[in-house]
Amino acid sequence: MNLLQFLDRAVTVYGEKCAVIDYEEGRTFTYKELATRVNQLSHGLRSLGVQKGDKVAYLAPNTVEMLEGFYGIFQLGATMVPLNIRLKPEDYVFILNHSESKVLFVDQDLLTLIEPIKHQLETVETIIVHYGDDTSNEISYDKWLNSFPENQFERAPVDEFDVCSLLYTSGTTGNPKGVMLTHRSNYLHALSAMHHLRVHDDDIYLHVLPMFHVNGWGSPFYYTANGATHICLRRATPAKIFDAIHKHKATAVHMAPTVLNSLLQLHDEAKPETGENVRVMIAGSAPPPAFIRRVEDELGWTFIQVYGMTETSPLTLTSASRSTEEHLTEEQKVRLKAKAGYPMIGCDVRVVDENGNEVPHDGHSLGEIVVYGHGVMKGYWKNKEETEEAIQNGWLHTGDMGTIDEFGHIDITDRKKDIIISGGENISSIEIEGVLYEHPSILEAAVIAVPHEKWGETPHAYIVLREGHTLTEEEVIAFSRSKLAHFKAVTSITFIDELPKTASGKIQKVQLRNEYWEANP
Ligand code: ATP
Ligand code: MG
Repeated sequence: MNLLQFLDRAVTVYGEKCAVIDYEEGRTFTYKELATRVNQLSHGLRSLGVQKGDKVAYLAPNTVEMLEGFYGIFQLGATMVPLNIRLKPEDYVFILNHSESKVLFVDQDLLTLIEPIKHQLETVETIIVHYGDDTSNEISYDKWLNSFPENQFERAPVDEFDVCSLLYTSGTTGNPKGVMLTHRSNYLHALSAMHHLRVHDDDIYLHVLPMFHVNGWGSPFYYTANGATHICLRRATPAKIFDAIHKHKATAVHMAPTVLNSLLQLHDEAKPETGENVRVMIAGSAPPPAFIRRVEDELGWTFIQVYGMTETSPLTLTSASRSTEEHLTEEQKVRLKAKAGYPMIGCDVRVVDENGNEVPHDGHSLGEIVVYGHGVMKGYWKNKEETEEAIQNGWLHTGDMGTIDEFGHIDITDRKKDIIISGGENISSIEIEGVLYEHPSILEAAVIAVPHEKWGETPHAYIVLREGHTLTEEEVIAFSRSKLAHFKAVTSITFIDELPKTASGKIQKVQLRNEYWEANP
């Protein structure tokens, strides 16, 4: 079982079909043409001395070059190290050295991030530039690729337990950790995702979630195995997303809720074409029901929520199954989609207390989500201590808190670190944010715990207002009190122009907490 079988199947069954469309440059490649480029890439990597087990890093947005990189690397039995394009230069020094990457592929536009740190890279021997010309000191990709033969590359033997990727976590809560995922974990994960996301061979999949992040990382596998067409979008602005969906008749697109929020905003203002029969998968955080309703009613897209983390390949829970049941009312369906959902096929998921015992299935007892199954990582690269802490008797401790109801339906309440403990009550920052998002003047909201003399902690909200709108602290507090139990209502506000986010669009509360402490020493 290895991931190359997905490309092989696509070439055999769908060889002449369009595999990938480059939205910006207008290039298209059939599956046979893609496989040829993959072979050339493998020959090229071999000429650079890359061998089984070596690490090859990518610093690129969603491009054809990135997509072919996956399979080109795997043919050598090597490991891909995708890099988040929004990190700071010192983060690249850390990840490239820590991962022991030998070759680095970098998009022309991102080369300036690497130039200043080149001399600090201890293991990188070659840098190759996508879209590069001959004026830089590095090798330019296209010329380089085309200098290698097109014939089938003689593959290295790949065991299913070999590590295919070293994916660094988002760094939402601290330093990124290098997660080792295997061919087996990604292969079985892809089969499960294909089923739950209803992937089929007529799909036209628009890459919006970055392939360098685990949520986007799996799509080159499950949309390839079925011979679907990929659309690569180098710079995913809201206008381009709508245009690509409309122009290329996309049927599936995955994104973070923050990106979807910006699409809704553009839709309000400019009413662009939204495409037909689009399924939108949301990953990374739980949006409120009001938001889901807008996506379904205003954009006309089918909404699927998933929950997962880098350490689980990532998809673990999905709202997809239950929300299609016919006996449910529309309101019930939307509410279910707002919850993470049922375990996906191949994942065993439990909600446990501090002693590791399952909490009652009553829909409100809070516990930590733990996961067992094929998707669970092999471990953190060069970090035995954190691996042993995270995986106990095969069960991965996610650090996320949630509840399970009598139907086995799991709801993610919050990260352990983000839960606000006020007067002994656990309050979910996500629940409060959901209410704030209902206010017509609020564009974005993030809630953190701040110290309080009487209650221990209380909720503090960071708010971004919609353009041209005004709102006072008192008005926001009164609004949250009108919608929530009073102990859950926000007690103070900071208005801010923009929330700090990771490259996949997640709000970095750790930065907001630091900011709060700086402003309130
Ligand atoms: P780091 O581990 O470096 O702090 P991170 O946890 O954000 O970063 P990822 O692996 O990208 O890195 O994200 C996984 C986390 O995202 C989960 O542990 C969970 O907290 C959150 N998450 C993912 N899906 C959902 C969802 N549907 N609802 C709520 N939270 C979610
Ligand atoms: Mg994490």
